[in-house]
Amino acid sequence: MRRIYSMPLRRKIILVIMMISTVSLLLASAAFIANDRITTRQAADEILNTMAEIIATNSTDAVLSGDRATAQEILKFLARKHHIQAAAIYANDGRIISGYSKETKGNQMPNPVGIPEGVQYRDNYVELYSRIRHLHVPVGYVYLRSDVGIIAEHMQWYINVAIIVLFTSLLIAFILSKQLQRIITDPVLRLSEIARQIISERNYSLRVTGTGHDEIGKLITDFNEMLDQIQLRDNELKLHKVELESNVANRTAELVVANKELEAAKEQAESVAKRMEYNANHDPLTGLPNRMLLKDRINTALSHAHREQRMMALLFLDLDRFKVINDSLGHAIGDQLLRVVSRRLKSCIRAEDTVARFGGDEFMVLLPSISGSSDAGRIGMKIIDALVKPVWCHGHELHITTSIGISIFPSDGTDTDTLVKNADISMYRAKTLGRNKLIYYTAEMNAVSRRQLTLETNLRKALEKNELELVYLPKIDITRNSIIGAEALLRWEHDTMGIVCPSDFIPVAEDSGLIVTIGEWVIRTAFAQLRKWHDAGYNKLTIAVNLSYVQLSRPGLVKTVRQALSESRIEAGMTEFEITENVVMQNVDAVVATLEIMKDMGISIAMDDFGTGYSSLSYLRRLPVDTVKIDQSFVREVPDNKNDASIAQAIIAMAKSLNLSVVAEGVENIKQMNFFRQQGVHIQQGYLFSEPVTAEVFQRMLDKQALPGPLNLVR
Ligand code: C2E
Ligand code: MG
Ligand code: MG
Repeated sequence: MRRIYSMPLRRKIILVIMMISTVSLLLASAAFIANDRITTRQAADEILNTMAEIIATNSTDAVLSGDRATAQEILKFLARKHHIQAAAIYANDGRIISGYSKETKGNQMPNPVGIPEGVQYRDNYVELYSRIRHLHVPVGYVYLRSDVGIIAEHMQWYINVAIIVLFTSLLIAFILSKQLQRIITDPVLRLSEIARQIISERNYSLRVTGTGHDEIGKLITDFNEMLDQIQLRDNELKLHKVELESNVANRTAELVVANKELEAAKEQAESVAKRMEYNANHDPLTGLPNRMLLKDRINTALSHAHREQRMMALLFLDLDRFKVINDSLGHAIGDQLLRVVSRRLKSCIRAEDTVARFGGDEFMVLLPSISGSSDAGRIGMKIIDALVKPVWCHGHELHITTSIGISIFPSDGTDTDTLVKNADISMYRAKTLGRNKLIYYTAEMNAVSRRQLTLETNLRKALEKNELELVYLPKIDITRNSIIGAEALLRWEHDTMGIVCPSDFIPVAEDSGLIVTIGEWVIRTAFAQLRKWHDAGYNKLTIAVNLSYVQLSRPGLVKTVRQALSESRIEAGMTEFEITENVVMQNVDAVVATLEIMKDMGISIAMDDFGTGYSSLSYLRRLPVDTVKIDQSFVREVPDNKNDASIAQAIIAMAKSLNLSVVAEGVENIKQMNFFRQQGVHIQQGYLFSEPVTAEVFQRMLDKQALPGPLNLVR
């Protein structure tokens, strides 16, 4: 059965037709043969019955008479009938009257008595029993036996014919079916061939030819329509594919770009993360560890020092007057200076030590292991020496110094915060003691440091609370014994702290920047006071005001001075500003420019405390100075101290050579006065003449034309 299913359609059709033809022909032949067999039997029956009837009719008399010869005669004609095998005529009692048989062996005749009339078919013969009647009364029997050969012959003939017909029909059916199957299979094969071609070539423009209105015709039409649809879809798909491919190409290109960007972003993120971690722990400007990392390292060093019972030191560094450089020369130079400083600091320490930038111009050095406190001092001195060398930045020669405070573990503290705080306090102390110094922490400093803090807090309120006052130190022309001017000096009287010396609070005011506001107030107040004295008739009197380097580093000084002059209606020529040598620590060009503007206005400029700072002849020449004030440290021991005397003489000679006038300050006795008089220094200041006094006292001195000192003045 499987083989049938897998057979080609062509063969299937032939097979089906052949099977149908065979079955139909066999059935027809069988019916035909059966029918013929029945009719042949009937014919045989009739023949036998007719014969029996003839014999019976003709033999009635012979039976009645028992005439065997006649009976024999009657049976004779049967001998010519080759199929009659035996025949007999019986009397009513079953006695044979006549009989014959063609069979050689045995000639037995059956006894007909009791056997019903009619034809009986036996295996290979047929026999007939019939009654012989006379006037409807049975008088005897007729027996006929015929072989069935006639029927078989007949049948054989029919079967032969049927077989011939069958085979002929089958042959014709085969030939016809072979031809006819093409009607069905040809279009189907065409269809399948086209389908295969379409599959292999993917050419959806192919169509199956052939029309017809049968199922295959419809199938072809449907198939072609389906191809139309597929072609349409295919075209759409191709279009989509092209579109998709271009989209994919674009997208791929975008993805490649995005991927690269992602990679770059990833790398960037990683480097940013590293950078962030680095930044979190380092100072971006100098690359030094920052406060956070330093504290970490101090903590670690502390725990080691605790365990190993070692000493450890912290050096707190603050650059002196860095703020001024930053403000006057700009941040770029300030930054560069900080970088140079950080390099120099690193060169002073060992690999296991840490230099960190604590913020602004503050640095910290951690020495995690020292054998004694002097080690810290040695490194501190090394740092001071390393920093004192000038730094060249963008054509500026910068001088920077540092103040260093040292705290030692375990004597000055056992935890990070205390050690840092105490190093800070001692640094502050170093500053107030004149900068460029190294100071070890001592317990007493705490009180000093608290005072510094309190000073700054209170100083902020001093102006509002009217706690500041000016006192005036007379400037004497000893040749005329007259007061020619006054130097305004600040005083601060605090409720609880009492009178605070300028040397205590001026550095605080400078560090905090408060000096700018305070300085403005000093200028206005001093000028206003001079106005009063001029109004009182002392109109030749001059006023000198001290200027801090911080004031000179900030813009707006000239404007303030102009305003103060116009407010007090004082001529610029009646005023003088005293500057100290440390103004050269900043942008000299800017300072020179500012001073020159003031000088052009008619204001005099005096170099105060000359000989104590960065005295440099070249600077003195560059600065538009009119007067040099010899510092009292050189005055104190003249004329006895030959050294001081010769320094003083050198300063005077130099000033004269530069065409500058000279003032001696801090003159306390007549010897000193005379010494300077002999040197041609006629303008003098000092307790010999008067201490700084209030405006009222000064006024009285003017009025009385008398000084509290030993000299009498002539106006
Ligand atoms: P300076 O400008 O050199 O002022 C002179 C200082 O010497 C004053 O001290 C004065 O009282 C003192 N003095 C004068 N004659 C003698 C003397 O014969 N013997 C002794 N031992 N001392 C004498 P003071 O008032 O304490 O001022 C100290 C410094 O404070 C000033 O030195 C000045 O640099 C600064 N200063 C004072 N007032 C101001 C101010 O208004 N602005 C600024 N920027 N600085 C000021
Ligand atoms: Mg002065
Ligand atoms: Mg002075």
